[in-house]
Amino acid sequence: MTASVADGASPPHGFAGPLSHTRRWHAGVVQEAAPAGVLDLGPGYIEPALLPVDLLRDAYAGALEEYGAAALGYGHDPGADPLRAELAARAAAAGGHPCGPDQVVLTSGTSQALYLLATSFAAPGDTVLAEELCYDLGQRIFRDCGLRVRTVATDGSGMLPDALDHALAAVRREGGRTAFLYLTPTHHNPLGRTVPTERRRRLVEVAARHDTLILEDDAYAELALTDGWTPPPSLAALAGYRGVVRLCSFSKTLGPGLRLGWLLADAEVAARLSGHGLFVSGGSLNHTTSLAVGHLLATGAYDRHLDAFRTRLRARRDALVDTLRAALGDRVRLRTPEGGFFLWLESMAGPTEEALLDRAAAAHVRVAAGSRFGTTQGPSVRLAFSFNPPAALERAARRLAAAWTGTAPTPQIGEST
Ligand SMILES: *Cc1c(COP(=O)(O)O)cnc(C)c1O
Repeated sequence: MTASVADGASPPHGFAGPLSHTRRWHAGVVQEAAPAGVLDLGPGYIEPALLPVDLLRDAYAGALEEYGAAALGYGHDPGADPLRAELAARAAAAGGHPCGPDQVVLTSGTSQALYLLATSFAAPGDTVLAEELCYDLGQRIFRDCGLRVRTVATDGSGMLPDALDHALAAVRREGGRTAFLYLTPTHHNPLGRTVPTERRRRLVEVAARHDTLILEDDAYAELALTDGWTPPPSLAALAGYRGVVRLCSFSKTLGPGLRLGWLLADAEVAARLSGHGLFVSGGSLNHTTSLAVGHLLATGAYDRHLDAFRTRLRARRDALVDTLRAALGDRVRLRTPEGGFFLWLESMAGPTEEALLDRAAAAHVRVAAGSRFGTTQGPSVRLAFSFNPPAALERAARRLAAAWTGTAPTPQIGEST
């Protein structure tokens, strides 16, 4: 984290001064920009002022200095060894199971890895088994590849192993094929929950018994926010990397514009994936950037950034959770997520989801509809605490509480956000 990034020092989006890190943050450059005056708790974006612009400028300069022309050549197909070795060592240290560089393939982010797996390890018409609520755009990628997404019952600890067992048998009985199981066990999007170790073991065991591959989407693994809390070992580590492909990304820690992620698998699966013509033709999926980011890992700058980033994110989570709790009490159910970007909120009385969204919009706050992620138990919304500074989140929480309890004077457009 650079010294020039100060909490609340710059507007979250829309406009910025000429030297600001947030300059040119508008539609046509970035994916989506909220209209002026709207407090945007919808997308899982990183607040512009927290994106480490200076760090990356130094990283690219460092990589070009160190590798020269080799940084601009076609990269080694599975990704350059320096970053693969760093990532394997981190996985081994965090998961407690050995992991070598030959088990790492660099990707253009988790979205691209999902596409690669959905086209390499599945055929149109195959089934993907997923949690009742899960990352909507992952489901979208599977469907766009011609796969069917079928959900499996979950409880507060994640997918139910018996329900998984039954679903795997049912797909086979119906003459179908399950291509893989799609799980987000750590700091779940949208629910914010983490699957405990024992449940992880049982899910791995059921999938192995049915000889079914697990895709472990672990985009938020490094974003534990609660003091003293460390997430359980990954499914991949628990399975000794057999039958699990774990997908990781720098999108939620350094910036999604980098389009840099990595997958971890057993060496055979990793080699099979990186033997795809896509790599043979284009080499590493993101060579120059991977050398730059490799530089950050090797110097320790990435870990220093992560520490500072987690501290900022924790303050944002706490600001949102505390203000909502104080203002809404038991009208809503919410649990403080141990990490990640999201808070899941269920309305205990009154309005439908549509009414929750309409009233939020009238109060100039954008939230994500719970039903976007699957079938909900009742009216629910997902709130991202990653995209606004604490004071803005408190303002958004007060507006939401007033709007949902009917005490809202609707703010006028142009009122300070
Ligand atoms: C953000 C997100 C992704 C997208 O990751 P990219 O690396 O940016 O493609 C994938 N999965 C989940 C669960 C996410 O929240």
